[in-house]
Amino acid sequence: MTNKIRTRFAPSPTGFLHIGGARTTLYNWLFARRHKGDFILRIEDTDEVRSTDDSVTAILDSVKWLGLDWDEGPLDEHRDHGPHGPYYQMKRIDIYRRYLDQLVQDGKAYRCYCSKEELEELRRVAQLEKRPPRYEGRCRALSGAQRAAMEASGKKFSIRFKMPTSGATIVDDQIRGKVSFENNLQQDLVIWKTTDGPTYNFCCVIDDHLMEMTHVVRGDEHLSNTPSQIQIYYALGWTPPLFAHLSMILGPDGSKLSKRHGATSVLEYRDQGYLPHTMRNYLALLGWSTSESQQLFTDEDLIAKFDLEGCQKSPATFDTVKLNWMNGEYIRQTPVDDLVSLAKPFLEKAGLLGLPGPELKRVIALEHEKFKLLSEIPTLIEFFYKPVQFDPKAFDKVLRAPGAKQILTDLAEVLRGLRPFEAEALEARIRNFVAERGLKNGQVFHPIRVAVSGRTEGPTLFSMLEIMGEDMVVARLKDAAARLP
Ligand code: GLU
Repeated sequence: MTNKIRTRFAPSPTGFLHIGGARTTLYNWLFARRHKGDFILRIEDTDEVRSTDDSVTAILDSVKWLGLDWDEGPLDEHRDHGPHGPYYQMKRIDIYRRYLDQLVQDGKAYRCYCSKEELEELRRVAQLEKRPPRYEGRCRALSGAQRAAMEASGKKFSIRFKMPTSGATIVDDQIRGKVSFENNLQQDLVIWKTTDGPTYNFCCVIDDHLMEMTHVVRGDEHLSNTPSQIQIYYALGWTPPLFAHLSMILGPDGSKLSKRHGATSVLEYRDQGYLPHTMRNYLALLGWSTSESQQLFTDEDLIAKFDLEGCQKSPATFDTVKLNWMNGEYIRQTPVDDLVSLAKPFLEKAGLLGLPGPELKRVIALEHEKFKLLSEIPTLIEFFYKPVQFDPKAFDKVLRAPGAKQILTDLAEVLRGLRPFEAEALEARIRNFVAERGLKNGQVFHPIRVAVSGRTEGPTLFSMLEIMGEDMVVARLKDAAARLP
């Protein structure tokens, strides 16, 4: 055993990686990185029915996109690397079987012959009698003769772990403090299924031990599994790792975060145009804080400051407004060349790449301050590359205003040949035009904007005209004028 900190994220590949799982991954990663320890990824695929390769792919893609690297674990859907492998539980069945045999031999686990129907009946009766619907150990107490009869009849069995029937198991949780569970209220968990395979609670203990985990940091839905897991450690003669259970994540309405509240999958956040850095920073604060309530962190800063003491017991609330604010902050901090690269997949999807028009970098730089999501970029800049689509309201109100047609026609002439065709010169020339005609700024500025962009809002007018260039501006002014009666 080393005393190096070792943490893990151990997803069951039965769906995408959701926000809660992403936060668990991040906390384990931060904790390991902070202590120069190891972060391990382990795929808990013992549910043969619900586990899929596609889920493994989605989870690995999500963790990679979040920028959280792992020291040991899967390389892809089937291969893995590291000294404690394999990291796919279905490839470890022989290991589990060894420990199962040991527990059975030591009389710490037993065969349970109860069928599904019998168990359901026991549950039903317990409910009627207002007892908790847990398995009360019917097969634990079988006599030798009864057991022999069951075996002789060829009845299928599962294997259950014998929980102590007295005393309490204390979970010394690193976030919640000591939580005590009465042993006689716990049921004897199935550790080996009738279908001849191990269950999560069993594999988890064996793997966390053999993989030398020092800390198990996971969602609080697993707190109730922990006393049984601790007893399995004891039964095998092992010392349990330290446990930390993270508080639940709620939606804005105070109920558990779910699809109803919007995107829950990490890849949906990627596709909506959040930056991985935003997600790391935002998720870090979803249940953890520094005493100064710092909001924005570099990765180095997060690694240096993250600790389990700063994790809260009370639920955290997912706040999209804050997430969007933070993403805008990080987009602003992104150098424009990088932002262009980040925007490309979104522009490609919108069919905006490879079209004639101004240099992408200049267009993006012009609106850099405004973007909150990468996915907004195409809509905000498409008129630089696609024919103008007039907002009908803007058309009616601004372009149909008295005199607008003449103003646009004349401006096309006035701006043609202007040198340099740059913001400052454009502004001087247009203001001059306003003054000469005795007009108000708005009577000229608004129609120009709508004529070249189709909208009433957008980038600074004169810079926008400069970037569009003379040909595009003159052509669009004329075209808009021609559409007016
Ligand atoms: N496979 C479990 C899950 O996805 C992991 C629980 C644990 O971290 O121990 O919920």
